[in-house]
Amino acid sequence: MAIDYQSLAVKGVQALSPYQPGKPISELARELGLDSSEIVKLASNENPLGPSKKAIAAAESALTDLCLYPDGNGFDLKQKLSTRLGVGADQITLGNGSNDVLEVIARCFAGADSEIVFSQYAFAVYPLVTQAIGAKAVAVPARAWGHDLDAMAAAVTEHTRLVFVANPNNPTGTVNSSSAIEAFLGKIPEDVLVVLDEAYCEYMVGEEDPDGVSLLTRFPNLIVCRTFSKAWGLAALRVGYSVSSPAIADILNRVRQPFNVSSVALAAATAVLDDEDYLQRSREANTSGLKQLELAFDQMGLRYIPSSGNFVAVEVGPQAMDVYQALLAHGVIVRPVAGYGMPNHLRVSVGLPEQNEQFIDALSKALAAAGQGA
Ligand SMILES: *Cc1c(COP(=O)(O)O)cnc(C)c1O
Repeated sequence: MAIDYQSLAVKGVQALSPYQPGKPISELARELGLDSSEIVKLASNENPLGPSKKAIAAAESALTDLCLYPDGNGFDLKQKLSTRLGVGADQITLGNGSNDVLEVIARCFAGADSEIVFSQYAFAVYPLVTQAIGAKAVAVPARAWGHDLDAMAAAVTEHTRLVFVANPNNPTGTVNSSSAIEAFLGKIPEDVLVVLDEAYCEYMVGEEDPDGVSLLTRFPNLIVCRTFSKAWGLAALRVGYSVSSPAIADILNRVRQPFNVSSVALAAATAVLDDEDYLQRSREANTSGLKQLELAFDQMGLRYIPSSGNFVAVEVGPQAMDVYQALLAHGVIVRPVAGYGMPNHLRVSVGLPEQNEQFIDALSKALAAAGQGA
């Protein structure tokens, strides 16, 4: 009898449904017979400015050493981060994107008999890594689309090993204030690790916006994750990191792949940290782009979730998949979020002014075609 090899996979893995990435531009161009330049992708929260020139130059210089393994300890990048963040280099763990770090954390600190707590509508990677290691997912109902931190603290049991908090969260864009995060951390037992995922922290502009790194000295069970994929504009290169106590970092560094960040990625990330001007322009473009989108939604009578990230979830109604398809036909790629339990919303990333305009224009046409709105 033929063996069903899928049945040999561990149980959590058998039931996994893979992460759904945004549709690539090249794929839609093929499908529509269009040129890639006519297509706008606002589906993966990428930086619309294009990469920093300093990052490109550093990546190019690194090409001469392609035959060599990268520095497995990422010395230069850790030094730069350490100075910038005011932490020890021994508190930093580098990852192949911060998703890599999130997964390593789960593998190091949770197992088949553990519970992992996260919020409803939270970033899809949390349930994914939880299931992959066979742990029990405890998804806590959201409050006004955001993390209900009181309910999350109350959901912690003696089996809980990890709590994931995305701040701001993707795909909702909701943020919990600095005082709320502190109060939450005060309620979590010291032997339960809290992962504060700050992938969008560079975009936050409010005074009450949290900075997880500043809380590390008071809460040794905290792990803060950040990335170069969003405001720093290096999504293709896959670089992220966590900041934690040295003891936790030591564990994570034992388990991560020894060369998990390429030398090209290390060089570009190290260089981009010197490009403060790029970061500033990324922030400003995002703030004005978000306003442009929100204003258009207001004018179209569409509800949206106010966002602290570089994207916004807009409510287009139960025919959201039709609207998504109609947008594709107009050459605009956004992200359906039905998989997050948000079947009436679409998530759109903030683009350049003309890209946002193309999206808004296509959206009003798509809604009209779907018999709704303007
Ligand atoms: C984009 C994102 C990340 C970062 O992913 P990388 O692997 O660093 O590219 C992490 N967390 C959230 C919530 C995100 O949206």
